[in-house]
Amino acid sequence: MPQRTPGLTLITGASSGIGAATARLLASRGYPLLLLARRLDRLEALDLPNTLCREADVTDRAALLAAVAEAEARFGPVESLVNNAGVMLLGTVAEQDPEEWDRMLDVNVKGVLNGIHAVVKGMVERRRGTIVNVSSTSGRKTYPSHVAYVGTKHAVHALSENLREELAPHNVRVTLIAPGACNTELQSVTTNEAIKQGFEEWKASIGGVILQPEEVAESIRFALEMPQHVCIRELMLASTNQPV
Ligand code: NDP
Repeated sequence: MPQRTPGLTLITGASSGIGAATARLLASRGYPLLLLARRLDRLEALDLPNTLCREADVTDRAALLAAVAEAEARFGPVESLVNNAGVMLLGTVAEQDPEEWDRMLDVNVKGVLNGIHAVVKGMVERRRGTIVNVSSTSGRKTYPSHVAYVGTKHAVHALSENLREELAPHNVRVTLIAPGACNTELQSVTTNEAIKQGFEEWKASIGGVILQPEEVAESIRFALEMPQHVCIRELMLASTNQPV
């Protein structure tokens, strides 16, 4: 169990994958939670204690603010944000519909900023809090057919480091979690079937073993449960067999 009673934790994109695994893990450790995603039925199906589930698109700044206000009235101030919602639409720049770039930039970059906006003023006023931004190995490296996605995750890396510097004097922590390939629904959103098939072949070529969302959730828990004066700045994790 955490050393102290955990405060309200907001998880965006909690309806599947890493967000859902993190919600389950933190709920099992007594965290009150605000879970956001567009698929409310999936949030409610998690059936977690001390949890408020709300339908919210991270591109909708007002919806995030309203959900935070409602959750704070019930559970007290937000102590942590797990800024996790994201989409990955792969394609070569020559072939990909630019609408897909727009969607990734809106969700992966502006959505992350919107999550920060919803909680940061209160954290600064209280001089405590933790913002965990879920980026990717794609925030440090590059991969074929990933140009726009890699651009969004490099942006998350860069804005997180700058945010950490800005919030350090206010005693607010910023942590970046950068997973490699993980067994979630993320791949299913890509519209290019050849790229999806290529991912399955790549996975087989490394022995079929990629991260499980519960393993990424554990790294988020680790960062959250360090004492407030310890900031895990960045944690990059991937399957041992993943070469790049
Ligand atoms: P999933 O597709 O399983 O989960 C993505 C989550 O984001 C869902 O809960 C989805 O909920 C939510 N989401 C998507 N768009 C929006 C939106 N506009 N507003 C609110 N929520 C949204 O994938 P993962 O769990 O893998 O992804 C979580 C994070 O991890 C992402 O940021 C991803 O980039 C990152 N990541 C994943 C890796 C992987 O290999 N899986 C590797 C490295 C990083 P809903 O559709 O209900 O809105």
